[in-house]
Parts: sequence; structure tokens; C-alpha cells
Amino acid sequence: MVTPSRIRLARERRALTLARLARMAGISQQSLSNYENAHVTPTQETLHRIAGALNFPPAFFTCEEVDEVPSEAVAFRARTKTSMRKQKAVRSQAALAVEFNDWLGAHFALPEASVPTYGKPSPESAAEMVRSLWTLGETATPNMVHLLEAHGVRVFSLDNEHQEVDAFSFWRDAVPYVFLNTAKSGERGRFDAAHELGHLVMHGHDRPLSGPEAEREANRFAGAFLMPRADVVARMPAGAQVDQILKAKSIWRVSAMALTHRLHEVDLLTDWQYRATCRRLAEMGYRSAEPDGIRRETSQILPKVFTLLRQRGHTPSRVAHELCLPLSELNSLMFGLSFTAQNGSGQAEAGRWERPALRVVPDPR
Ligand SMILES: [Zn+2]
Repeated sequence: MVTPSRIRLARERRALTLARLARMAGISQQSLSNYENAHVTPTQETLHRIAGALNFPPAFFTCEEVDEVPSEAVAFRARTKTSMRKQKAVRSQAALAVEFNDWLGAHFALPEASVPTYGKPSPESAAEMVRSLWTLGETATPNMVHLLEAHGVRVFSLDNEHQEVDAFSFWRDAVPYVFLNTAKSGERGRFDAAHELGHLVMHGHDRPLSGPEAEREANRFAGAFLMPRADVVARMPAGAQVDQILKAKSIWRVSAMALTHRLHEVDLLTDWQYRATCRRLAEMGYRSAEPDGIRRETSQILPKVFTLLRQRGHTPSRVAHELCLPLSELNSLMFGLSFTAQNGSGQAEAGRWERPALRVVPDPR
């Protein structure tokens, strides 16, 4: 039995049009459309050709229906600039990540979600409320990915092919998900993670999820979350010079631009000083990149999962096989931690194994 929606999902995952996939598989566009719409069932041989063209195992197309991630559930930054095809590719990746997460949840006790949702307060107060709930104090925020994971957010990396998407997030069955682009600087990654946390906390309830206002709110939340007002005011002088900003950005592990923006927000830079500093930083290359940046933050949960699985003789390729996914699909979610398809040394243990509890310890600062 073929699940027609899976043909469409895999095609959208590869960002292919009907016409292009039909050409690649050597079938007519009308036939492909009939398969996707469940008007006709493809023969085994045709299904194998489609599977081959899409680089998905044939078994992928015979599994149960996948729960899609609806477009209104996802806050894409600059949605208008991201083509519909790219948005669908990214949402299909997310739908497969949810499947992977369900598999993880069946094998491990993952951290419970403890992300609050606030409809009313300003982004600045919302950030303070989350920091206080998570007992972060008034100093720099630890590793953002570990912090989110410790609070039950499932954090995955975005496929490198989708560079124009910075990050996005959504709630699914009371589980928060965040997807991060790993091609940006480490500082940018931290800011994106905090920005998406802002969406999870503030949006999707009575406030709109997307649009320029939601983006401004999420950015304001991220700045306040990463650079607490009291800490910034205590450490930075009024009218800080560019060299002072470049030195201080490592305290909060943020970009020079983000710190400059924050200094302006907390009234340590005047409008004029802010604009002059931004111009100077742009000349020095800090608008598009982060010279001498920090390393990208990555998942703490995923390497733990694969270490434990390997000890039980479960290789990543076996996990991919159980999920009917190509190994490359799992790897694309894992921050380039690259789990190779080597054979496990041990035998898979017979019978059931207890679901080990996976604890995430955020790094102390
Ligand atoms: Zn956003």
C-alpha cells in the first residue's frame, strides 16, 4: 500500500516541482499528480523510480500518514522573501523531525517542556519572566541550545540547502520545536535561538505569529534575554566606543551589532551614537559576518542519544531504517555532528529496554 501524501512530502522536501520530479523519474507529470492525489496507485516499479529520484527508501512511501506542519504554525522571518517552494521544503523537514522526535520519545524519557506562554507582557518583561522562571539570574545566558533542550524544547538544525531561512519554531502537541540554520555565526545562532524562544513564549496565542510586529517583538525579546538590562547597565559606560563594544560582546556572546542595538535600547547610546556605531561596524565587516566569532552551539541531547543507542548496538543507519528515512535526512537535523553509518560493535539487546532519562545540564557560566 502506498501513502500518496508521502510522495508529495518527499517531493516538497527536495524542493522539486511536479514537472521536475516526473522528468527525473521518467514518468508523466499527469501520472505523478495522480499518484499524489490518490487517483491512481503506482506500480512497484514506478514507486522505485520515484523513490530513487527522491533519494528516499521505497519503504518511506508505504508508512503511515505524516502529520504536516501547517504554514500558519511556523514563524518564518521575512516570509515574503522566502519562496513558497523553500518554505514547503523546510516544513517537510520539520514534519520528518517530528516523526524522529516521536521515535526518540518512545526510546528515551526526554526533558518535559517547561516553556511558559505569555500573551500580554512586553517582550522586555516576557524575557525577564522567563529568565526568572528558569533561575538564570542577571548575568550572561549559558549555551542557548542546551538551555532550550533542558527546558524541553526539541532543537534541530536546518538543512544547509535552505540558507535563506534563519530559524523557525512551532508548538506541536504541547512540545515546542526550534530549527536553527547552522551556517551563520555562533553569535547569530544564539540570537536566533533566543528570538525563536520569544516566538514560542509570546506568539501563537492572542498575538499574531508572523509579520513585522511579531519579528520586532521576538528580536526585542532575544536582546533582553541574552543581555539582561541590569547587567548591561552595570558593565557598560554611556556612549561606549566601538573598541569597547568589540571587547564586551564576548561577555554575553552576542554579535557586535546585537550589543550595539541593546545599548541603544537601554539608553546607553543616543540615536546619533547608535547610527554612527552601526556605520563603523558595517565598514569593519560586522554587518554580514562576525570576525573572530565564537563557535556554533550544538545539541547536547542528540550525541547522548546516539552514544546510548550505539552502546546497545543500534547504529544511526538502523534508526534511519526504522524511520524509513535516508541517513542523510537524520544527519541534516543534527548540527553537522555527522553520525556515520558504521556498524555497531554490540548486538542489539533482546527484549525491551527501559527508556533512559536524558538529562541536560546547562553549562554553568
Ligand atoms: Zn521570527
